[in-house]
Amino acid sequence: MAAITAPTSSTVQTLERIGAHSHVRGLGLDDALVPRPSAQGLVGQTAARRAAGVITRMVQEGRISGRAVLFAGPPSTGKTAIALGMAQTLGADVPFVMLSASEVFSLEMSKTEALTQAFRRAIGVRIKEEKEVVEGEVVEIIVDRSLTGATKTGKLTLKTTDMETIYDLGTKMIDSLNREKVSAGDVVAIDKASGRISKLGRSFTRAREYDAMGGDTRFVQCPEGELQRRKEVTHTVSLHEIDVINSRTQGFLALFAGDTGEIKPELRDQINVKVGEWREEGKAEVVPGVLFIDEVHMLDVECFSFLNRALESELAPLVIMASNRGLTRVRGTRYTSPHGIPIDLLDRAMIVQTKPYSEAEVREILTIRAKEEDVDIEDEAMSVITRIGVETSLRYAQQLITTSSLAARRRKSARVEVPDVRRVFGLFIDAKRSVKYLQQHAGEFMS
Ligand code: ATP
Repeated sequence: MAAITAPTSSTVQTLERIGAHSHVRGLGLDDALVPRPSAQGLVGQTAARRAAGVITRMVQEGRISGRAVLFAGPPSTGKTAIALGMAQTLGADVPFVMLSASEVFSLEMSKTEALTQAFRRAIGVRIKEEKEVVEGEVVEIIVDRSLTGATKTGKLTLKTTDMETIYDLGTKMIDSLNREKVSAGDVVAIDKASGRISKLGRSFTRAREYDAMGGDTRFVQCPEGELQRRKEVTHTVSLHEIDVINSRTQGFLALFAGDTGEIKPELRDQINVKVGEWREEGKAEVVPGVLFIDEVHMLDVECFSFLNRALESELAPLVIMASNRGLTRVRGTRYTSPHGIPIDLLDRAMIVQTKPYSEAEVREILTIRAKEEDVDIEDEAMSVITRIGVETSLRYAQQLITTSSLAARRRKSARVEVPDVRRVFGLFIDAKRSVKYLQQHAGEFMS
């Protein structure tokens, strides 16, 4: 098999935007990890946010890989929102992977392969690369040809950050510049044949002496800003990306198509060994991230035993599960268990509870959402939507913001008023009303 290659920083690019949570910008904690009542898009739920802050800090310190956390609470109590707040706090360099448990059941790959890929997407490898870079916004190289005696054309000024152009002036020259540690304003002589550079101080006086000696020498005044030829840069890719890039059947284009298929276990073993070598050689660092599994009760008993095993392995991320179920059957068994999670897995999980919101909190969240969606709502209409949110669900009330703004627009108003809310409340029913209707008309539906 071919040598395992590390992806370069330009190989991988991901873009993700999650509409319903776009207002969440962090966990809204102060430096002591105490939650502000409403900050960075998050409102209330202070105990859970505080716990999330502690967990996030442990992830940042690399102290929590291979553990499991469970966010347990009723629907729409911010489990996903808080997880996203954690992702924002961790930053782009620490992988944060979101998976809805039902995604594991696909026709294209086995359940365990889907979970393995999710695990490996949640483990980052920070690869150190030597890169040619020029520091500083604008590099100015002044070559004063008049002083070479060869031509009397005056100054030639190059303004560029482009390494290619700078290379035109001679790769060796830049090497030498670095070796000599010249700085802006210094005048240097470059021997064209050898590329050797000599520092001549800060004026062209000595250049004239050189010139008088003849020979093919070029004089350069050093640029503003420092020239640096090689620099160590790092970029983080996931183990999964390394798998895909090195998979003979896939190739890195599969990353963009999102269709990565199954990856052979032998390849993964080889990659693990290689990454181990890179670590020993100081070329790479492993960054365990977070795997967030939403609606975890949808996993079956085989997936749960896979999770249990995978958490034991050396390269494991922090697994955060979320469930809105109470006592329920573990899929694939006849047993019931809290949140539909087998007791042995539950036993190793740290459980964080989310609780229903007060009316004031619901209003605050809906107000933030309206702002995020650029919808102007009069106070009274907001009170109605809030009431609906408390009695039905926060999610349903959020949808009323969007739909009632459309209703307002239809009557050429920029502001949502109570009749707009009433109108869409009649048009789009919530889950409770839907269930009631089903119960009343059970005979008319196919079962
Ligand atoms: P489920 O169990 O149904 O998956 P959940 O607990 O994951 O629900 P979310 O999806 O996070 O709930 O919340 C529903 C909506 O309310 C989302 O748009 C979310 O961003 C918003 N939301 C929930 N809690 C908060 C909060 N504390 N602050 C701000 N927005 C919130």
